[in-house]
This record gives sequence, structure tokens and C-alpha cells, in this order.
Amino acid sequence: MKEISCKLLVIGAGPGGYVCAIRAGQLGVDTVIVEAGKPGGTCLNVGCIPSKALIHAAEEFEKVSHMAGGNSPLGISVTAPVLDLARTVAWKDGIVSRLNSGVAGLLKKAGVKTVHGWATFRDGKTVEVETETGVQVIRAETIVIATGSAPVELPFLPFGGPVISSTEALALSEVPKKLAVVGGGYIGLELGIAFAKMGAEVTVVEALPRVLAQYDAELTRPVVKRLAALGIEVMTGAKAKRTKGDVLLVETSDGKSAKVAADRILITVGRKPVTEGWGLEQIDLDMAGKFIRIDDQCRTSMRGVFAIGDVTGEPMLAHRAMAQGEMVAEFVAGHKRSWDKRSIPAVCFTDPELVTAGLSPEEAKAHGGEIKVGMFPFAANGRAMTKLGEDGFVRVVARADNHLMLGIQAVGQGVSELAAAFGLALEMGARLEDIAGTIHAHPTQGEGFQEAALKALGHALHI
Ligand code: FAD
Repeated sequence: MKEISCKLLVIGAGPGGYVCAIRAGQLGVDTVIVEAGKPGGTCLNVGCIPSKALIHAAEEFEKVSHMAGGNSPLGISVTAPVLDLARTVAWKDGIVSRLNSGVAGLLKKAGVKTVHGWATFRDGKTVEVETETGVQVIRAETIVIATGSAPVELPFLPFGGPVISSTEALALSEVPKKLAVVGGGYIGLELGIAFAKMGAEVTVVEALPRVLAQYDAELTRPVVKRLAALGIEVMTGAKAKRTKGDVLLVETSDGKSAKVAADRILITVGRKPVTEGWGLEQIDLDMAGKFIRIDDQCRTSMRGVFAIGDVTGEPMLAHRAMAQGEMVAEFVAGHKRSWDKRSIPAVCFTDPELVTAGLSPEEAKAHGGEIKVGMFPFAANGRAMTKLGEDGFVRVVARADNHLMLGIQAVGQGVSELAAAFGLALEMGARLEDIAGTIHAHPTQGEGFQEAALKALGHALHI
């Protein structure tokens, strides 16, 4: 049995863990990272990156297919395109593998030692790793748990055969003819829309009264409209029950039974933290439900043990995990750090895309105090028109008394690229006047942000 010691041990090389290790290494902290799979975790291997690659391929295919009908208002016509999903997936795998090597290289460059294998806690300072060449014991002054999350399985629709999780959906070699998506959250809709664009007949089964229920109905309206335009059937208030041959049995909102024909059933009902199989019981941490309880500085209930990323709860987003990882590395190196959770943006890569940062109007009202809301539709934005992307808007929420921005939301084609501006505005404590007075380049969809702020101040220029 080999033994090594280090100052910092990070368990899991997802976006939380690898960023933590790189930053610690840059700051001269003697750091070891343990990873059972490939560097980059869920996000890089079976999450953010591969899903966005497939979404992009699907978008391109749909655009060209539309032109093949001879109906494109752009005056372009082409012959019918053909999609070879196996090649698309190979292209996506190539991107993932380049990024895997990139992360491994960055860890090496920062002087971080990587140990490949599954880590199990012996006690709060010691971990055992089962590597290919035997058990490695690692002792560390500080340990960061970054074990991430995994897809939730429904006991009555277990994964296997036609029942798949997002992981298998990202590696299909053929487009399903009929795809049932159980769970109309962001992962289900992102993938459901992509497969519909690639030619699948898609049905979304959602138990709640609305899809994307975490967002307000005004914001999701353009997405719901687009689902219908893509021919995606949405069953809300409906519960998937079981499969019978090629059929998914569903209990509809009125209590009746419905049959959804499906050669693939994609389950996207949420993700659960990875808290089993690595000896959590050896260290007896305080939990917050299924997640590890942390304070504002990612400290757990045990001295010298931090937790970051999906294993610590919502929002389960890669950039939150990265921000936590960077912050913890700086603490360990003796720096003072804090972060503002309110300015974490969230992007939903549906069609059209959704971006939120801070509070929605309802959430802001619930906090008490008067608010001002300004909304600017992309129908009045020149750039959106030139991209056939008029459906959607930017909305700003600010305090009525001092105009401090509390939240910003947008729905529209390509609005994911506005997420940085929205996060920056909240992080800097911007007021409506700051956004209204910032000269935004023309013609861009970002002008919608400026106009929404002007609208809240009562003098929008282009509406
Ligand atoms: P993870 O990325 O889950 O990494 C944890 C790592 O720890 C894994 O590599 C695992 O192998 C390793 N590990 C676990 N236990 C052990 C152990 N005992 N020993 C050794 N190694 C261990 N987020 C976004 O922000 N934007 C998106 O567009 C987005 N799209 C997504 C699309 C899909 C389909 C999915 C599934 C997720 C998406 N997410 C997205 C969420 C994002 O992937 C996660 O929030 C992010 O990966 C969490 O990072 P993490 O570091 O906490 O954990």
C-alpha cells in the first residue's frame, strides 16, 4: 500500500474540483486531485459540452432542412440535408477528448498531482484510492469534496434498454423515431428540442402544470410556443407510469390512462448528489436533505473538510461549482475571499434560450418593497429581426426607490451570450441609470438590455 501526504486533496475532477485544484496549484499549495473517470466530470463528459454540441448540430440541421422546403424568407434554397448522427456524435466526442486533455494539461501545468481511481474516506484527514496498480493512501491537511451528481432513476422506469438518461441520449448513433421525454426541466427540453430538430417525434411528459416550472410563465411563453411549432407534444400534469413494449403508459392530468409510443424513453427528472460509496459515513458530516450542508465559504461541519459543486445543492450549475472551487483554493492558500451568490446567472439552452440572473419580479415583490420592471421585446430590435429571432424580450427588475438592479431575465435567440452582462451588472451593484447610460453597440441584441433599463426609467427610445 503506497502512502502520500499533501496540503490539499480534492476528490472529483469536475468543474468544481479541477478549478479548485488548478487555482490551489497556481498559489503554490501542494495539491492532489483524485478522479475515478475522465477529467472534466459531468459537465465536460456527459453534460454541458456534449449537450451543447448536439444542440448546435440539431440547430444547423433544422435551419438547412427549413431551406430545403424552398420557404426560407432569406431566399436560400438547398436540397434536403441528411444527418448522420453517428458522425455528429464522433465530432462531439472529439471536442470532449480535446477538452479532457486540456484539463489534464492545466492540472499538470499548475503542479497538481492527479491520482486515477475511486476515493473512499478512512477519516477526516485520510482517503484510500483504488488505483489500477493497487491501493493508494493519501493524507491531507484539507480535503475538498467535489463528487458531483448523477441522474435520478425512477424505480418504476429503471434505466436499461429503451429507458435512458441524458448520458446515453448524448451517445445515440441513430435518431429515435419516437422519443418520450419524462421531465420537462431544462435538460429534458434542451435534449427533446434537439432530437425534434433532428427528426424525432417527441412527447414531453411533465408532472407539474407547466414545463420549465422554475421560471415564470411570461418568460417561458416563447419556448412553449416554439415546442408547439416544432411539433413536440407536451403533456402537463401527467405522470409516466411504466412501459409496455414500445409504449409508455401515462396517467394524464384528468386521471385517465394514455399511451405514448416511444422507441426511446429519456428520463430527465433531476439529478442527485453523489454521496454514496465514498465513505461519507466515516466522517459523519451534517447534511441538508440529500446534500452536504455548507456555509457561505463552503465549509462542512467537519474542520478541514470543504464541499463544493452539485454535491452541495442548487443551483447545480458548472459555473457555480467553478466559483466555489476557486474561492476554496484561495482560502486554503490563506487569502480572504467572498462571493455573491445572487449574481450567479442560469442559462437554459432551449430554443429560444433563457437567461436569468438575480430575482424575477415575483421574487423581488416577495422580498417586500416597491419595484420597477422594464421589458423590451426583440420584435423592436433590428439585430433580432435580421436573425429571424423576434420572439422574446429582455426584462429588468429594480428597486423603485434607488433603482438598484435586483434581477435580469431574457428569452430569445442567442441570449445566452448576454448572461455575462447580466451577471456583471448585478455583481457591480448597477442601477438602472448605469445600464441605460452604457453605450451598447448597434445593431446587437444587447441593446434590448439598455432599452429595458430605459423603459423601467420611463423613457425607452425604440418602443
Ligand atoms: P461533476 O461534474 O459531477 O464531477 C464530479 C466528478 O467527481 C466526476 O468526474 C466523478 O467521476 C468524480 N467522483 C465522484 N466520486 C468520486 C470518488 N469517490 N472518487 C473519485 N472520483 C469521484 N451546467 C451548466 O452550468 N450549464 C449547462 O449548460 C449544463 N448542461 C448540462 C447538461 C446535462 C445533460 C447535464 C447532465 C448537466 C448539465 N449541467 C450544466 C450541470 C453541470 O454538468 C454540473 O452542474 C457540473 O458538472 C457540476 O460540477 P461538479 O464539479 O460539482 O461535479
